[in-house]
Amino acid sequence: MSTIAQQAGGAQTTAHGNDVQAAVEALRRGGLIGLPTETVYGLGADASNPAAVARIFAAKQRPADHPLIVHLHRTAQLEQWARAIPTAAWRLAEAFWPGPLTLVLPRARSVLDAVTGGLDTVALRVPAHPLARAVLEEFAGGIAAPSANRHKKISPTTAQDVREELGDAVDVLLDGGECRVGIESTIVDLSTGTMRLLRPGAITADDLERTVGEPVELLIHPSIRSPGRMVLHYAPNARVVLASMEEVAERLAEYAVLGVHVGVLSAKRAPSWPAHIPWLPLGDSASEQAQQLYRRLREADGMRLAALIVVPPGDRGMGHALRDRLWRAAGLGDVLA
Ligand code: AMP
Ligand code: MG
Repeated sequence: MSTIAQQAGGAQTTAHGNDVQAAVEALRRGGLIGLPTETVYGLGADASNPAAVARIFAAKQRPADHPLIVHLHRTAQLEQWARAIPTAAWRLAEAFWPGPLTLVLPRARSVLDAVTGGLDTVALRVPAHPLARAVLEEFAGGIAAPSANRHKKISPTTAQDVREELGDAVDVLLDGGECRVGIESTIVDLSTGTMRLLRPGAITADDLERTVGEPVELLIHPSIRSPGRMVLHYAPNARVVLASMEEVAERLAEYAVLGVHVGVLSAKRAPSWPAHIPWLPLGDSASEQAQQLYRRLREADGMRLAALIVVPPGDRGMGHALRDRLWRAAGLGDVLA
C-alpha cells in the first residue's frame, strides 16, 4: 500500500505515521483532508467544527441541505452522536463495522445542523480502511466526509481522482491505493421503527435482513428520505445508455449513422461489434464490477466519448447497488424500483 501524503504546497512525505499526523493536524486546524476508505475517497473535516464543515460544501459546490456521513473510529462512539439507538443498530454494527455500512439514527442534540442538513437524524459509519482507521483513532472525534468529488460528479476511487476533482481545496491528501469496494456505502435508515434501505451497496438487503431478523423496506424514491440522492448522480460526461447484450450491435449501428463517438461498458465483448469501438471491460462478478465501475466511467470521460452503452449486470447480491448507480448515471434514478 502506498502511503504518500500530498500536501497543498506540493511537499511530500512517505512515512505512514507522518501522513496520519499531518491529516489529524489539518483536521484540528479546521482543514480538509482526502481520506481513503474501502468504499470511495472521502473529503473529510472535523464534524464538530461548523467552519470546517462549511468548507466541505464550498469545495464540493454541494447544496447546504444535503446531509453528510459522520465517520467514527469505534461503535462505542455511537452514543455521542445518536440517541434512541435501536437493537437493530447494535446488531448491524457488530456484524458489519468496521465496513461499508452507514446507519441513519435519531441525532444527538450536539450534532451540528450543517452536518445533518437540518434533519433530526444523523448518518454514521465506522469505515474499515486502515488509513481511515488510523486517522480516526488519532483524531478521536467524528469526521464528516462525503465523497471527495464535485457535486454530481463521479466518486473518486484513487488519490489521483481526488487530486483531479478537488485539487488545492484539499489540505492533506492521504493515498491509500485503489478502493476495495469501489462504490458508496449501503445506507440504512433505522430512525423510524422499520428498517429502510436508502442506498444499496456492498452490504445487501439480504445481509441486513439476515442480521436483524426483520424485513428491509426498499425505497422507490429514496430522495424523499435521503436528500442528496438525486436522479442524476454518479454521472460521467458521456451520455449513459443502458442496453442488453443483444441490443448493443443495433445501438452501435444507430450511433455510427449519427457520427457519435461511442464506447461500450460490459463484462463481455461480442464478435459482431466493430473493432474500432472502444470497449471498457468489467469483471465477471458484481463485486469486481463495482470495484471497477467509477474507474471505467472516468476512462470514458478521458476518451471524450459522447455516449457510453452500458450492459447492466443482473440484480442479485451487489448487482442491486451497481444497477442503482447505473440507472442514476443514465438519468433514470426516478424510475428506480
Ligand atoms: P456521500 O457522502 O456523498 O455518499 O453522500 C452522503 C449521503 O448520505 C447523502 O447524499 C444522503 O443520501 C445520505 N444521508 C446522510 N445523512 C442522512 C440522513 N440524516 N438521513 C438520510 N440520508 C442521509
Ligand atoms: Mg457523493
